[in-house]
Amino acid sequence: MAEPRECLRCRGPMEPGFVVDKGHHDSKDTQKWVEGTPERSFWKGLKIKDRETHAVTSFRCTRCGYLESYAN
Ligand SMILES: [Zn+2]
Repeated sequence: MAEPRECLRCRGPMEPGFVVDKGHHDSKDTQKWVEGTPERSFWKGLKIKDRETHAVTSFRCTRCGYLESYAN
């Protein structure tokens, strides 16, 4: 996995983290990358069954706040 050492914008130090998403029943989950275009399902919100998904890791610049995300 790529780990950026410095910010592309200001060359500040990058720290690893992740973006929290709300899952079912308000439980917290990490943000996921899903292949294709979003399709709405009446019952479940977005349909992502049978799609390829990857957890998203975001690196944050401690100087300017710029985020660089990787879906692994
Ligand atoms: Zn920066």
